[in-house]
Amino acid sequence: MADVAVFKSEVKPDWCPGCGDFGVLNSLQKACADLNLNPHDVMVVSGIGCSSNLPGFFNSYGMHSLHGRSLPVAQGAKFGNHGMTVIATGGDGDGYGIGVGHLIHSIRRNMDMTYIVMDNQIYGLTTGQTSPTTELKTRTKSTPAGSTENPLSPLALALAGGCSFVARGFSGEPMHLAETFKKAIQHKGFALVDVFSPCVTFNKTNTYPYFKEKVYKLEDEKHDVTNFDAAMQKAQEWGTRIPIGVLYAKERPVYEASETAMMAGPLVKQPFRMLDPSILLEFV
Ligand code: SF4
Repeated sequence: MADVAVFKSEVKPDWCPGCGDFGVLNSLQKACADLNLNPHDVMVVSGIGCSSNLPGFFNSYGMHSLHGRSLPVAQGAKFGNHGMTVIATGGDGDGYGIGVGHLIHSIRRNMDMTYIVMDNQIYGLTTGQTSPTTELKTRTKSTPAGSTENPLSPLALALAGGCSFVARGFSGEPMHLAETFKKAIQHKGFALVDVFSPCVTFNKTNTYPYFKEKVYKLEDEKHDVTNFDAAMQKAQEWGTRIPIGVLYAKERPVYEASETAMMAGPLVKQPFRMLDPSILLEFV
């Protein structure tokens, strides 16, 4: 097991005291250490938002990319060197709003990578507007009379799209979250982990006590992670009981195994060569 300290950056997080993103950062550092990864074998890519500052606080290769664009950048990195552990991170506004198209196609493509969404059900960086996962009737700066748009169910969306690994965590349960991250990173394929990560400054509804009272662990209920119908049912469970843990995990061929350019090993380790133009002539 590596020392968790190797994944700690010299840059101290600038999140509000008590922000759920601290728990996500600590759990991810623990997961990578437990898996005995080296910082130089890991790449963390984010979009834009409070949570997307995470790569700066995590000692590894990293990139703070564009709003909603963490997934294409992360896949580009994986394409260049699929020997690396690639992790994309961001928030619910970034990933389920402007970036949702990339999410769907990343799920279809099934590259071997992990996507962590710090879901606080609000836009925190822009000081508190409704996001795609804000609950109905929630009063925010952009909806002073209460939100009227139905919240997205990201886990149900991912399952419907064919995601090979779907899980949910809670930053108030850091040990459980670290274990969930480990399973996601070890899964061969695209893994989505949606994490309840409370915004203590702008979301006064979905707080730590709100989730503490409701969440239960699927591992305690002998949930069958290979049962798609059971996973879909759990993805839609909301109210007095909300499940956390792995909902679904079933491996299928990853993109790296079916793309001819990548079959000879990571592109970065292959000798430079020009494409044979006769291949293109077949399509003329
Ligand atoms: Fe965290 Fe909310 Fe503060 Fe952003 S505004 S750092 S999401 S608590």
